[in-house]
Amino acid sequence: MPTVLDGTAIAAAIKQEVAEDVRALAAHGVRPGLAAVLVGNVPASEIYVRSKVQTCADLGLYSDLITPPGTVTTEEMLDVVAALNARDDIDGILIQLPLPKQVETKVLLDAVLPEKDVDGFHPVNAGRLQAGRPALAPCTPAGVIEILKRSHIPISGQHAVIVGRSDIVGKPAAMLLLNENATVTICHSKTRDLGAMTRQADILVAAIGRPGFITADMVKPGTTIIDVGINRLTTREEVDRFFAGDARREATFLRRGSTLVGDVHPKAFEIAGAYTPVPGGVGPLTIAMLMANTVRAAKMRRGL
Ligand code: NDP
Repeated sequence: MPTVLDGTAIAAAIKQEVAEDVRALAAHGVRPGLAAVLVGNVPASEIYVRSKVQTCADLGLYSDLITPPGTVTTEEMLDVVAALNARDDIDGILIQLPLPKQVETKVLLDAVLPEKDVDGFHPVNAGRLQAGRPALAPCTPAGVIEILKRSHIPISGQHAVIVGRSDIVGKPAAMLLLNENATVTICHSKTRDLGAMTRQADILVAAIGRPGFITADMVKPGTTIIDVGINRLTTREEVDRFFAGDARREATFLRRGSTLVGDVHPKAFEIAGAYTPVPGGVGPLTIAMLMANTVRAAKMRRGL
């Protein structure tokens, strides 16, 4: 039987450590602060941001929620960011994506001070990560490393194959794994014979955004699968395609009208040595690492 890598438990342990760090910083008169910028009324973004703000409160961090209207311009957003860059009580700035069409996302992300860039999206932080210097790393890939380490899965010398090369997940995951001495292969939509690549993986990271895309025939038996994908299934046909005969999924679908599947087909997990489930795998780590990054930014900025 494959080992299920319990992201919820690992995230809880990280959050507990963050809360301890926050208490220790209080002795120095420091309270790490996160500013969350939520533009307009995008329901999914609202849910994510509220959960981030709530987690700050749970762990003792200060947070400030800033909510510009959906009609905001790039210039107005640049003013918001400049004000947050200048505030001493703010250690981390989070701009919830996606932004409305009229706002130039990259211009804005580049305006965040690298030392407050707790999402790790600024080119300076991407460069530092690549150059092997201390950096604020993007939260989701940083969470992938935490799952592997805390589950005692060896990384050094292992062949890690990553499917997906986004700036947010795939590329930084590759850099972090390389920094941990894995041999890294990065695959993408132009990769020829993807299965031949993925079957070589000791650690297979799927960050594609296509439900159940990695099938059992693409996986080497005994491999560790990290499924970053989060895809919502809303039709009976989709649910049956992945979860036919699974009573728990059936119940979730009937209750909520949807259920989640990763980028890896559930049948592929059966031949893995270990895997992260969806939900409850990589997902919970993202917020935990955001909190950890905010505390780290608070310490780094004060030279602690
Ligand atoms: P992007 O859409 O930015 O990137 C997807 C990547 O997959 C691209 O590099 C693309 O290649 C590659 N790809 C697409 N189709 C194929 C194919 N047929 N064969 C091989 N590669 C392919 O997605 P993200 O990186 O932002 O997100 C990936 C997944 O992770 C999504 O499901 C997302 O929901 C999830 N996610 C989960 C998070 C979490 O907290 N757990 C956080 C962030 C994302 P190319 O570059 O050539 O187009």
